[in-house]
Amino acid sequence: MVYKSPFPPVPVCTESLPSKLLRAIKKHGDLYPKKNALVSATDPTKCLTFHELHTQAHSVRAFLHDRGFKVGDVACLVLGNCLEWPVFQLGVMAAGGAVSGASAMFTGYELERQFLDSHCTVVLTDEDNVEKVMKAAKNCEKVTTIVCLRNSSSRPWGLPQRVVDWSSVVSCKPKYEIPNVDPKTMAVLPYSSGTTGAPKGVMLSHQSVGTVVDIFKDHFDREVFSVIGPKNHSWYNELFLLILPYYHIHGFVLLQVALFSGATSVVVGKFVPKQFLGAIEKFRPRVLFTVPPILVYLAKQPLVLDFDCSSVEFVLCGSAPVGKDICIEFLARHKNVKYLCQRYGMTECAMGSHLPVLNVKDPFMGVGKAVSNLEMKLVDVNNGKEVGVGERGEVWIRTPTLMMGYLNRPEATAETIDKEGWLHTGDIGYMEADGRTFIVDRLKEIIKVKGFQVAPAEIEDLLLSHPQIRDAAVIGIPDTRMGELVRVYVVRANETLTEDDVIKFVAQKVSSYKHITGGVKFVTEVSKSPSGKILRRFLRDEVANEMKSK
Ligand code: AMP
Repeated sequence: MVYKSPFPPVPVCTESLPSKLLRAIKKHGDLYPKKNALVSATDPTKCLTFHELHTQAHSVRAFLHDRGFKVGDVACLVLGNCLEWPVFQLGVMAAGGAVSGASAMFTGYELERQFLDSHCTVVLTDEDNVEKVMKAAKNCEKVTTIVCLRNSSSRPWGLPQRVVDWSSVVSCKPKYEIPNVDPKTMAVLPYSSGTTGAPKGVMLSHQSVGTVVDIFKDHFDREVFSVIGPKNHSWYNELFLLILPYYHIHGFVLLQVALFSGATSVVVGKFVPKQFLGAIEKFRPRVLFTVPPILVYLAKQPLVLDFDCSSVEFVLCGSAPVGKDICIEFLARHKNVKYLCQRYGMTECAMGSHLPVLNVKDPFMGVGKAVSNLEMKLVDVNNGKEVGVGERGEVWIRTPTLMMGYLNRPEATAETIDKEGWLHTGDIGYMEADGRTFIVDRLKEIIKVKGFQVAPAEIEDLLLSHPQIRDAAVIGIPDTRMGELVRVYVVRANETLTEDDVIKFVAQKVSSYKHITGGVKFVTEVSKSPSGKILRRFLRDEVANEMKSK
């Protein structure tokens, strides 16, 4: 059975993101010249009005234009959430380019891979990361410009060659005309490993992201704000603490919706508990968008009780599964929270495929319903047949917000989206008769640590580059606090290689959430199927038995 979204359809966006967003931002600035688009959570003197955001984005566009940045070029952002992130993003898009975000935690090894793969020509980073970025860009001849933000510190500032200071970018005379960009071309290039293999560039068009922004805004205005009141309340009147990373599609889309709707975004760089809790107390948001590890923190840690979090009435958690017990513990502690719900989606469909419905018992159970415009079916993984209500199957979705494909990887695209346009999510779920969907298992390889993707294939590749490792397999093992931990199985060439050697080797190369925190097991062989695929299910079953016997 093909299930169609029960919500009113949202027209597919027919304009490019820069024209849609910058028009809205200009309108908010003209109507309310003093209203802030962005405020820093840690330093409230750092803020940008909608008007300033509009002007600075066009200065970035002018700078890029002068540097020869063309329609279709890619710019990479290597920095945590900050006010300058959306300024640069909008400037790049206004110049006809696409943005590809990377984590500031990424190592040089990981950055070099993303620079080369995305063919980016410009990079925005900050003082803390500029050396790492320069090293990573050494072998990437396409990178011609590195723009660097100065931190508030008063450290002496000697600009390395090839690096441009942010202040000289935003002081460029703004150029307001935006090139004609086809909405069906790429606007954003986040990285995801999808159902299998190493991280791949997910090409999302202006049309996909623009439509997701409209779907999100529409859904929240109708299904959330009108329920938690007051009447006719909308995104516009809200203030959001945006802690989810902008380089990940979840944080990115929320940021766009806030800018488009005229809400004020309080920018949180990273999760530092005291700062985060202090920001909730100070800015008093009603709505909190979060991921499971932060929810666990808010449910359990004593420090939380020292802060006034009573403004929060609605919490939306996503990016990874969250357990029922944690939800109950959270609600018992945060009595003002009227609704705790989950969302579900994938980078490959520009994030939002399922959003909450509030008028049901325990809305935290399940991931809500298929959003506007979306079709879904559940398919038996053994025989490929559609299953009925209440039965488990792989979640397949079809939506106009689907990716254009993986960058330069037609085979991987064809493995993920079939000829009829269905995205095979690699997640197992079931649906109730009223359309509520529940995700219960994961068929695909990815490991989710703190809501971040870890691609087993990336770590396996790395392990195999070690001269003393003959073969390797990587899986995730369950963990209450982190979601999952990375466990590796290694066939070593000789017994001198220790667990510690393996852990250190990986830690030197990749960012901390990809480190081996779930242990190293030395084995004599890694079980594989006749076609050479690692039998991960077999390893996961072993872990399940291991856990049971504890
Ligand atoms: P990403 O592309 O990084 O957003 O990862 C998408 C994947 O995260 C999904 O395919 C799921 O495996 C997982 N995921 C996201 N949200 C949820 C949720 N609420 N419950 C269970 N798994 C989720």
